Amino acid sequence: MENFAMNLWLEYIIGKSEKDDIGEMYAQLARELPKVMSVVATRHCNLQCKHCIFQKERQYFFNGAALEIAVKTIVSQMLPNPIVVHEGRIFEPKHLSWLQAIRQIRPDNKIGMIDNGSYATHISKIKLAGFKFDWLDISVDGPKRIHNFQRGSKDSFEVAINGIRNAQKVLTADGEVNSLMTLTKINYASVLETCKTLPKQVSQWHIATITPTRAELKKLTLSENEFKISWNQIKLANVLRVVVLKIYEVSDMLKLAKAVGGVKFFEAFEKAQMGFSSVNFVLEGVLVRYFPQSMAPKETFVLDGGVYRVPYYGISHTLAELNREELEKYTIGKVTAESNFRLLYEECVIGWRENFSREAFKEEAFIFQQIKNLQ
Ligand code: SF4
Repeated sequence: MENFAMNLWLEYIIGKSEKDDIGEMYAQLARELPKVMSVVATRHCNLQCKHCIFQKERQYFFNGAALEIAVKTIVSQMLPNPIVVHEGRIFEPKHLSWLQAIRQIRPDNKIGMIDNGSYATHISKIKLAGFKFDWLDISVDGPKRIHNFQRGSKDSFEVAINGIRNAQKVLTADGEVNSLMTLTKINYASVLETCKTLPKQVSQWHIATITPTRAELKKLTLSENEFKISWNQIKLANVLRVVVLKIYEVSDMLKLAKAVGGVKFFEAFEKAQMGFSSVNFVLEGVLVRYFPQSMAPKETFVLDGGVYRVPYYGISHTLAELNREELEKYTIGKVTAESNFRLLYEECVIGWRENFSREAFKEEAFIFQQIKNLQ
């Protein structure tokens, strides 16, 4: 059963199973290979948004040949119908080589890209290469003034909207363009306005709370009151177009429970469907997807520009920092043509459990106890 680890997580968290058997949850997590690989081809970006999970990268590092070998090695060992996400940080035409290579070796895969819209300056090169994405995800973080402020740029709003409007040119026949809004202290009261601003080409609209991978991001996370304002607007926006709220921080689950009340929250949560790496439930008509951090390795296999496999928070450190010994726990190692995907993933689950997940699971259990006490 592919969602067995998530089912165990839910049973422990809502108190239907004893937590002394938590080892079985991790054993199962190690057996369930991720279906998604995220490729950070380079750490370079033309922006440095206030809410970015990446630090400003001082080094430009790109080894196209090694990256192509690494991507091909992993994707060829993934389960049927894998998903590969180009996570940038932004698209450069030299990435077409590995994108085309994996299209060839795994015709059953879906290839998408998360971008700020700057890819559109390369549309002619993408078309010339004959490459098409299965989906694009272009973030819009608010109406023009708010988006540009959050992204520290005068024209990033136009670039994003232009990227959405032109997406069809680089998409497969049934390809989709999606959009993500990351909620921060800057834009929390602009959900409804953002909804009305989105071009009609957007198929799926996702809203996510911020993931404070870096200490500086904590000051952008919403207070309970700000979360409640966003939630009320999300409900109104959900009438205009379908919204999916994604939550990665368990403290935001408590804010959500306080916004709707503990009884209503638990009624919905107990009917949750288990996704591959998320708990999915409908609250006041809105689909909420919660990704527990303790289960994070399952969400995606990250291959970063330094050709390291980096469990989760590795992206909060620069490549130069990751080369320092004390940060070794953030990386698993270089991926080469000889790498075994299953073994690398198992190693990742062990490392994650030892270094991060125990604390994350403890916090999840503590916060869900507080949510229960709201009933
Ligand atoms: S565009 Fe994306 S990757 Fe670049 S700084 Fe902004 S959030 Fe980060």
